[in-house]
Amino acid sequence: MKLETLAVHAGRSIDAGSGAVTPSITLSTTFERAANGSFPHEFVYTRSENPNRHALETALAALEGGAAALAFSSGQAATAAILQSLSSGDHVLLADDLYHGTRHLVKQVLARWGLQADFVDMMDTAAVEAAIRPNTRLLWAETPSNPRLKIADIARVTEIAHVHGALCVIDNTWATPIWQRPLDLGADMVMHSTTKYFSGHSDVLGGCVVVKDANTDVLPRLRDIQKLSGAVPAPFDCWLIQRSLPTLPYRVRAQTESAGRIAEFLQQQPQVTQVHYPGLASHPHHEVAARQMRGFGGMVSLEVAGGQAAAVAVAAKVNLFTRATSLGGIESLIEHRASIEGADSPTPPSLLRLSIGLEHSDDLIEDLAQALG
Ligand SMILES: *Cc1c(COP(=O)(O)O)cnc(C)c1O
Repeated sequence: MKLETLAVHAGRSIDAGSGAVTPSITLSTTFERAANGSFPHEFVYTRSENPNRHALETALAALEGGAAALAFSSGQAATAAILQSLSSGDHVLLADDLYHGTRHLVKQVLARWGLQADFVDMMDTAAVEAAIRPNTRLLWAETPSNPRLKIADIARVTEIAHVHGALCVIDNTWATPIWQRPLDLGADMVMHSTTKYFSGHSDVLGGCVVVKDANTDVLPRLRDIQKLSGAVPAPFDCWLIQRSLPTLPYRVRAQTESAGRIAEFLQQQPQVTQVHYPGLASHPHHEVAARQMRGFGGMVSLEVAGGQAAAVAVAAKVNLFTRATSLGGIESLIEHRASIEGADSPTPPSLLRLSIGLEHSDDLIEDLAQALG
């Protein structure tokens, strides 16, 4: 089935008891055992499994083309679970431009538990090869990356990982499976902040890991961490994310169309020194992006002449865009990224990140034009 059809039907069924077309929310934390001690409905306790989480996980696995998905209470909880599936003394190689929370989790928390890490430019395969150590267990790429929309060649990074006996994880939050399916390109796991495009309405936090192969020790390890650490999403949160799935392909398509127009517009503005968007022919890895993505997504970053002060002044002048962090919602957001990322941020201070919503692109362009002017 096509993604649009899966987005409507995967993990959804008519309730056998009531005939309800829309799934119900099962708030019960506990489920009855039969007289013989068995669990006839397969559910035991909501931290371990819940009908709404099960339905969401079924849908997420189908959309990414994986063997199984695990839902978490946030993207960060999903990231933590993947990294905790490693052992003390293991080494991970991560992209040098990626979600700052991933970098901070590795450096501020997991380093104390003995996780070793290096950050490299994932397009520089010589640098990736050079950074591999005998104890490298995982290559972590985010493509397009946050906030500079750098591209990693997923097939190539996976190949390098596998040659060295490591696994490859792709943070696919920005592309979504509508535009990019890393598991089809060889990656072992996909991670998402479902807070973003999957939820799509800036009203629920969530995360997930989708695993390609059910027959390795990765899936049982992740299931153990999910159940035993307990960073699981509430049934209502699962229900909200699942409610947003059928519109995902249509939202992402509209957001991408507008983002492409806005990137072209920005590229022509004298006050804009650089536009970061993989759909532009001027993007250094446009060809790789075009090969592995079916669309280039709804995120655009720009750099403003005059550095941080000029960038902050542009953000201060917008009317339709909202100054706020996060992304993937129906409303357009603008953010001065370096000032949110912390002292070790590698992001240029002149950079503004745009998350394009569902407003008409003419209105968004007009708003940016007046803010830049
Ligand atoms: C937001 C985000 C995360 C973290 O997800 P949360 O749901 O905020 O915990 C991870 N990766 C990327 C690319 C993100 O945009």
